Amino acid sequence: MTLDHHWFSETHSATGSAFSLKLQGKLHEAQSPWQQVAVYATEAFGNLMVIDGYIMLSTRDNFLYHEMMVHPALFTHPDPRRILIIGGGDCGTLREALRHPGVESVVQVDIDQEVTRASERYFPELCESNSDPRAQLRFDDGIAWVKNAKPGQYDVIIVDSTDPIGPAEGLFAEPFFRDCLRALADDGLLVQQSESPLFHLETILVPLHRTLRAAGFADTHSLHFPQCVYPSGWWTATLARKTGRVADFRAADAAAKPFATEYYNAEIHRAALATPEFMRRALESVG
Ligand code: SAM
Repeated sequence: MTLDHHWFSETHSATGSAFSLKLQGKLHEAQSPWQQVAVYATEAFGNLMVIDGYIMLSTRDNFLYHEMMVHPALFTHPDPRRILIIGGGDCGTLREALRHPGVESVVQVDIDQEVTRASERYFPELCESNSDPRAQLRFDDGIAWVKNAKPGQYDVIIVDSTDPIGPAEGLFAEPFFRDCLRALADDGLLVQQSESPLFHLETILVPLHRTLRAAGFADTHSLHFPQCVYPSGWWTATLARKTGRVADFRAADAAAKPFATEYYNAEIHRAALATPEFMRRALESVG
C-alpha cells in the first residue's frame, strides 16, 4: 500500500500492477487484535474500506460483489431458508441475502467487530438490514463456528472473507470445507469469494476447486464478474454443491425476483456461468 497526500494505491507486485483512487482524506483508522481497518473518503468512489492495506470495498462499486456473492447461490439452491455468512463484516452480503423473502434466518459470523462498527458508521446503507429480526450478528472465528455447527444446520454457507492470509487462511483449507459440508443439509450449497481469474488462477482458483472436490462437494463452478477496485478489475465467486450441478439454477425465479438489484439478473447469472477458454483449460485437471 502506498498513500501520498492525494492517492491511495494498492499495488500487486506479482503482476507489476496497481489500482489507485484519488482521496479527499482519511475518515477512520483502528487496529483490532486481528487487523488494521481504515476508511478513506475518495473523490469519485465514495468511501473506501481498507484492511491491512488491501481494498475491501467502495461505496460506488460494492454492489457488484455483494449481489454476485449472494443471488447466484440463493437462486441455485432449491429452497434457501437458513443462511450462514462467514466474514462479511461490512454487512452488504447480509443485506442482499435478506432481500429473499423465503430466507428465514441469516447468521453472520465475522471475527472482527471493528469491521462492522466501521461499516455502520461509513457504509450505513449496507447495514440497513442489520436489525431485521431474521438477522443475527456474531463476532467469532468462522472456522470454529462451522466446526461446532450441527449436521445439516444450514442450506447455504457464504464465505465472504479477506484474502487467504492471516485469520482467513483456514477459510480456504480442506478441513474447513469438510466442516461446511457436514453443516450443510443434503441439498446444501457453499459460495466462496475466490479472487481474480486473471491474477490468481493457478495460485488460488484451481487449488480451491481441487480442495472443495477433495472435501466431498459434488460439483464446483466459478462465476465471474467485474470489480474494478480489486486486483485486475475482474473477480470470481466459486459455488460448490453437495448434490446436483452448479449450472442448474432457478432461472424462472431469478427472472421474476421480487426485489430490485443493480447488477444481478437471470441473464447476468447465465453469462457469469460461462467459462473463458484459459480458465476451462486450467480447470480441466480438476474434472
Ligand atoms: N469483499 C472483501 C474482499 O474480497 O476483499 C471481503 C470483505 S469482508 C470485510 C471480509 C471479512 O472477513 C473481514 O471483515 C474479516 O474480519 C473477516 N474474516 C477474516 N477471517 C475470518 C475468520 N477466520 N472468521 C470470520 N471472519 C473472518
